[in-house]
Amino acid sequence: MKTNPEVLKIAIVGAGHVGATSAYALLLSGLAAEIVLVDVNRTKAEGEAMDLNHAVPFSHPTRIQAGDLADCKDAAITVIAAGTNQQPGESRLDLAKHNASIFREIIPQVARHAADGILLIATNPVDVLTYASWKLSGFSPNRVIGSGTILDTARFRYLLGQHFGIESRSVHAYIIGEHGDSEVPVWSLANIAGMRLREFCQHEGIAYDRHAMQAIFRQTRAASDEIIRRKGATFYAVATGVVRIVEAILRDENTLLTVSCLASHYGISEVCVSLPTKLNRNGAAHILQLPLSEQELSGLVKSAESVKAAIGALNLDVRHEAAA
Ligand code: NAD
Repeated sequence: MKTNPEVLKIAIVGAGHVGATSAYALLLSGLAAEIVLVDVNRTKAEGEAMDLNHAVPFSHPTRIQAGDLADCKDAAITVIAAGTNQQPGESRLDLAKHNASIFREIIPQVARHAADGILLIATNPVDVLTYASWKLSGFSPNRVIGSGTILDTARFRYLLGQHFGIESRSVHAYIIGEHGDSEVPVWSLANIAGMRLREFCQHEGIAYDRHAMQAIFRQTRAASDEIIRRKGATFYAVATGVVRIVEAILRDENTLLTVSCLASHYGISEVCVSLPTKLNRNGAAHILQLPLSEQELSGLVKSAESVKAAIGALNLDVRHEAAA
């Protein structure tokens, strides 16, 4: 992956709520020398690029332009946020089929123009489309990453932090599996300052409220729906998460984040789901196998099966010879 800061280019395909907000967060981060925005609605991409360019004098020297898929050339990372959200009455499978048809058009072209880069998928259903992107790109699995449950994990930590009166970055807890209904909270390993939550409560002299914990997970899982009901879309948190993934890769951090990758753990295979994954300049360099409880393990396996069923319905029979 090209990481020379002089030429460091990030491409974003899909300049809607998620793509444009990711570009904005990326600009404010100062991580990229160049940001390219690609959208089937070229006028929208141009408008976003103009608006963002006018923020440059307040932020970081960054070249921002609208382009087409050929302008993803040599991008270190290409973020894919093109496609639609689930429409009222539309099943998740219909959404998967619709967005997969967009990916069939986009991914092979991005893979050709940015052959050494990393693909970072945000479009939903993100696990299914991360797998589709791996198939369609011919890239090695470490270079195809979905934002996965990074957002769910952030929501979970935020809500636990609110409950315990501890800043969310000091709460260590993961949501794994599918980014969606079958996601799994890893209660058995959730901790504050190294203490499991029950132990933390004991030491702090507060009651461990099992019902409150269950409500926190329900709120985590329902957060997207609740936000969409109020403002029509979610984008700030996911865009910040996307830039956090980009940062971990570009800065070769070895940071652990719950991103979606091709998993071959716990007997799971041929599917992308989220597990804590070490991110560095090679992309998803290593996936951790957590010592899960029996219940968490069976939840994860079920979650992977449900993603796999959706993948199966897409008939993705492409596999490139030259997988790098
Ligand atoms: P949006 O409608 O605002 O933007 C989507 C953009 O994709 C539009 O500008 C559209 O013109 C563009 N597009 C469509 N087809 C294209 C093509 N072939 N090439 C290039 N651009 C194309 O939607 P949004 O709110 O930004 O959401 C985008 C996706 O991100 C949705 O699938 C949504 O569900 C998903 N999302 C994911 C997460 C997550 O945690 N992974 C969170 C929020 C939203």
